[in-house]
Amino acid sequence: MQKLGFLGLGIMGSAMARNLVDAGHDVTVWNRSSAKCDPLVKAGARQADTPAAVVSASDITFACVSDPEASSELCFGPDGVLEGMEKGKGYVDMSTIDLETSQIIEEAVIGEGGRYLEAPVSGSKTPAINGNLIILAAGERSLYEEALPAFDAMGKMSLYLGDVGSGAAMKLVVNMIMGTMMAAFTEGMSLAEKAGLSTQDLLAILDAGAISNPMFRVKGALMQDDEFSPAFPLKHAQKDIRLALLLGDLLGHGMPTTAAANEVFKRARSMGLDDNDFSAVFKASQS
Ligand code: NAP
Repeated sequence: MQKLGFLGLGIMGSAMARNLVDAGHDVTVWNRSSAKCDPLVKAGARQADTPAAVVSASDITFACVSDPEASSELCFGPDGVLEGMEKGKGYVDMSTIDLETSQIIEEAVIGEGGRYLEAPVSGSKTPAINGNLIILAAGERSLYEEALPAFDAMGKMSLYLGDVGSGAAMKLVVNMIMGTMMAAFTEGMSLAEKAGLSTQDLLAILDAGAISNPMFRVKGALMQDDEFSPAFPLKHAQKDIRLALLLGDLLGHGMPTTAAANEVFKRARSMGLDDNDFSAVFKASQS
């Protein structure tokens, strides 16, 4: 049986690792704050003391951490992934990061004889819990094939997109669209409030028409209850928009709508909303 590792047990990683355990895989976990390992260990996972120890114990190690800085630290830091890497082992970074960071990690993993895939995910906390993520993989094809049983436990769909960078880029495009949609949605909700309209009515009208979607439906209902506990932390949403804008810069591609949405998210961050759900950008539109 394949031995799997999982690094980073935040909102997403804890649910993804849990689905690997529940599917019967042999899983070793690590998280920077070690208490987050406890529920996984109770469910049947082993716990290791360092990322290097997880990689040493595993054929394929998955990671899902905050941002490019966290992915780099996990890989290159003391007792990091590279220290446990050896010939034939696989490393799959499922965090949402930029193309360059992913390519630097790929080169380092290959330099140690290992194989690398980037595999960011589309879908939030509930799809992660339900094993319904969409996995956007790119990199070493043989590792993709070997990781498929694990991807099947974590997701409802996985795509192989080609060379490293394609998965990261696809994920940034998806989240740039999602972030600008959320910014426009919350701006409209707050405009409706200021115009004395019923936001309940607005939500019902949106839901009955051509721009109906699950995000407006679910997040709209939660906004009505002033409920912003994080499924997708706002700080990560702004990070993704920022990384998408950087990609646009590199390609000389104009992104005025995304740039405007980024300003709204930056304002929300300056209001102390980092650890709220990204729908809390509503509060920046209301103020
Ligand atoms: P989260 O709940 O904030 O968890 C972040 C994880 O990263 C935690 O395990 C944290 O460890 C770890 N971490 C942060 N900095 C680190 C460092 N320097 N070294 C080692 N570990 C570090 O975030 P999340 O929502 O699970 O998101 C994880 C990734 O998935 C992000 O890239 C995010 O953009 C992406 N994503 C999220 C969603 C979503 O809806 N939530 C959806 C798709 C993709 P501690 O516990 O010690 O802080």
